[in-house]
Amino acid sequence: MDVIKITVCGGGNGAQTLIPVAAGNLGCPVDVYAPFADEAERLRAGVAAHGGLETVGAVNARARPRRVSADPAEVVPGSDVVVLVLPAFAHEETLCQIVSFLDEGTWVGAVPARGGFDYAAARVLEAHGREDVRLFGLQTLPWACRVQAYGQVVHVLGVKQAVDAAARPAAQIERLAPLLERMLGLHVGAAASLLALTLANAGQFIHPGIMYALFADWDGDPFPADEIPPFYHALSQAGARTLADLSDEVQAVRARLEPATDLSTVRPLKAWLLRSYGDAIADPSTLRSAFLTNRAYAGLKAPVREVAPGRYVPDFGARYLAEDVPFGLAVSRAIAALAGVETPAIDQVIAWAGERLGKDYLDRDAAEARVPQRYGLENLAQLLAFAGETDRMGCE
Ligand code: NAD
Repeated sequence: MDVIKITVCGGGNGAQTLIPVAAGNLGCPVDVYAPFADEAERLRAGVAAHGGLETVGAVNARARPRRVSADPAEVVPGSDVVVLVLPAFAHEETLCQIVSFLDEGTWVGAVPARGGFDYAAARVLEAHGREDVRLFGLQTLPWACRVQAYGQVVHVLGVKQAVDAAARPAAQIERLAPLLERMLGLHVGAAASLLALTLANAGQFIHPGIMYALFADWDGDPFPADEIPPFYHALSQAGARTLADLSDEVQAVRARLEPATDLSTVRPLKAWLLRSYGDAIADPSTLRSAFLTNRAYAGLKAPVREVAPGRYVPDFGARYLAEDVPFGLAVSRAIAALAGVETPAIDQVIAWAGERLGKDYLDRDAAEARVPQRYGLENLAQLLAFAGETDRMGCE
């Protein structure tokens, strides 16, 4: 697949990493759609001041985006590939903004997809009569990255060795994966469907599961800065057990749905860690040791809010719950319900997270999550038929 131009949607950590990486690897123009707040202006100013966007640390890339705009008409037309590098709650709204400006047959993908991207995106495309547009998703963001100077420098703390991707129409991933591999500069595995990607979303276990392990017994007292726990490197035995239980329940869903559909890329959490981080993990003997000895996780702290000078509380509004439950764990739980698989550990973490978020994702607010039922997929047959749908243009 040749690419003439790509557009990156977003102006955060991941977007500012992908822009120079993709421009450098593909050697094609990269435009940026950044409608959020004053990000387009700030990006333009930063890029002008620094002479381009630069990544430092685990990945070194430098390039100048061709155009940066808050107006989709200026940057979206003419794109072969459009990549949404956004938190999942912004996917649907952003897709609605760009859909009328997409060329016929464009690829639009979410990096990372999180759970249920295909359900929401297919509905937007259908509502606009744009079933010609093809979808893809990456199972995770390939980098742990933080903006160091906005529009100028991003610090890449770690890079994964391999990332899976899936497409809709599902079979077209074979065509797309080599392009994604070139764009990202790392191994991209082909998942059989976006359903496989949803279930394989490791963030749904890791983020809410570790928040639960760290803070379910928190007494409510603010703590000083030196007691802010490392997020990954403080994982207890009990925490590792919780993570294993969450992962095992999704493995039970996998077992129930195979062989009706290929879910071979829905790996148990420990296997996913070893595949993603490889040599960065010094002791791969157990799930817990794989977390505790993963170099790529060094220095990352639990999310906290300062409530008084030098006093902190857990930030329950952070992505680790606010994104990874409604766009992660709750989606897998909804799929488990369609498959008739019980999920006591997942339910427990969703219930706890929901109390912190003021949401009842197990019952009252279940349809606010990106679950298949919200998009009219009410039973297993419909879910599997949607996951396996082939190209309506007939060019599978
Ligand atoms: P970020 O917080 O840096 O970026 C958020 C960006 O999304 C904003 O800058 C803005 O451009 C856009 N945005 C936010 N709210 C919006 C809204 N309401 N409407 C439209 N646009 C909006 O996020 P990030 O770190 O780049 O992460 C992107 C995704 O990757 C998230 O799903 C995150 O969980 C995931 N992820 C990030 C990392 C990391 O290290 N940064 C690692 C793994 C996964």
